[in-house]
Amino acid sequence: MNVSLVLFTADLRLHDHPPLRAALDGARQVVPLFVRDRAVDRAGFAAPNRRAFLADCLRDLDAGLRERGGRLVVRSGELVEQVCRVAAEAEADEVHLAADVSAHARRREESLRRALESEGVRLHVHDEVTTAVGPGTLAPASSDHFAVFTPYFGHWSRARLREPLGAPRTVPVPEGVGSEELPARKDLAGLSPGLAAGGEEEGRRRFASWLRSGVGTYEDGHDDLAGDVTSRLSPHLHFGTLSAVELVHRTRQVGGLGAEAFVRQLAWRDFHRQVLAARPGAASADYRTKHDRWRSERTAHAEIEAWRAGRTGYPLVDAAMRQLSHEGWMHNRGRLLTASFLAKTLYVDWRIGARHFLDLLVDGDVANNQLNWQWVAGTGTDSRPNRVLNPVTQAKRFDPDGAYVRRWLPELADLAAPAVHEPWKLTGLDRAALDYPEPVVTLSEGLARFRRARERP
Ligand SMILES: Cc1cc2nc3c(=O)[nH]c(=O)nc-3n(C[C@H](O)[C@H](O)[C@H](O)COP(=O)(O)OP(=O)(O)OC[C@H]3O[C@@H](n4cnc5c(N)ncnc54)[C@H](O)[C@@H]3O)c2cc1C
Repeated sequence: MNVSLVLFTADLRLHDHPPLRAALDGARQVVPLFVRDRAVDRAGFAAPNRRAFLADCLRDLDAGLRERGGRLVVRSGELVEQVCRVAAEAEADEVHLAADVSAHARRREESLRRALESEGVRLHVHDEVTTAVGPGTLAPASSDHFAVFTPYFGHWSRARLREPLGAPRTVPVPEGVGSEELPARKDLAGLSPGLAAGGEEEGRRRFASWLRSGVGTYEDGHDDLAGDVTSRLSPHLHFGTLSAVELVHRTRQVGGLGAEAFVRQLAWRDFHRQVLAARPGAASADYRTKHDRWRSERTAHAEIEAWRAGRTGYPLVDAAMRQLSHEGWMHNRGRLLTASFLAKTLYVDWRIGARHFLDLLVDGDVANNQLNWQWVAGTGTDSRPNRVLNPVTQAKRFDPDGAYVRRWLPELADLAAPAVHEPWKLTGLDRAALDYPEPVVTLSEGLARFRRARERP
């Protein structure tokens, strides 16, 4: 066999890359291809923050390939058409691709298989490239997937993972297969000013430093909003600049309570992927309907706008929303609280919140975002679907001295706790001096509305 093509998608790395290894084992030359898929733009999924991170990743992947004697080929257009065209130009006999879970990814894989087969080219799809344990690998006796995390995690923890692969020494790429210019972050507008840098090199540097000096404090500190001690590896996992298999192996080698807690979070990622693989419709429809008649963009316009802008009058909610717009990333505790506030306290359709997150999050991911939103809205896999997070209680637990709120809300920067979490309690000149809104709704009104809605037969 002479030439194989490797189609990179959400696996933008050279270390631990089974499709690349298989292609190099089977062929003399390899075409590493990335297609800027027009269907992703049409679906409104190409948010500026993720396009910028992607641009970094593609440049870094190209640099890594060049160090190994190769280069990255980038094309834009309809993915199937572009892959077939490059395969024909390079006279490739096979294409290697990582399996993925969304409905879009699976439709794309099927159309690609049919189109390539009609040209006499074989498509090889590799599992466990974008997950540690692949969807469908674990299932209870009575169903095609786990609907509850705890038993899933029991099985996941005992599953045998494949050994991580090293990066190849050389990647010989045939001459004469042209590439478009690589996209660059500097050409993009509308980015969050504090957006993180992408690329495999950056991801590996972050992960190494996390293992050295971060993971040890994770168990105790992961909910401390101001401490900000979580790994921030989510965009690297989303774009696949880091491999989940490698992360689990290397974190287990470090050991300890922090390592165990971190590995458990990686299992949540696989958990949501196996739910989405089995129920692709859960990206937009309730996984377990509660027959909600949600408030909508029309009926709750002002409150939704206040939530998006970080002007609800609840400082912890607003601080987290401002972090989202500034960094394109939000702490998990902030995501839980802001989602609960929108879906439960304001009783607004979870899809409106999920869309806003996807418009900004650099790690915005169909499986993780939509299924976490459903978990919080009580239409997903949470076993306590009607729990409502109270922003004041959450603030006292997870931002006790108010440092996180002061960091993100300059208008409250001179207030100490507890006033910083309940500015509506200030009176007279103290209150008049603040350019900060009154709460959009009282917590008791929000709670009563939600309970009435969920009690309805
Ligand atoms: C409403 C809502 C929306 C979310 N949307 C996304 C999203 O679009 N993309 C995304 O990657 N995560 C999402 N999460 C999950 C979680 O908040 C982020 O993965 C995490 O905050 C990323 O920060 P980190 O890398 O420092 O996480 P760490 O705490 O360091 O965790 C390590 C990794 O484990 C995975 N992980 C952690 N928590 C979860 C979880 N609850 N579900 C699935 N995987 C998890 C992530 O890949 C993360 O990078 C969402 C959570 C909520 C409540």
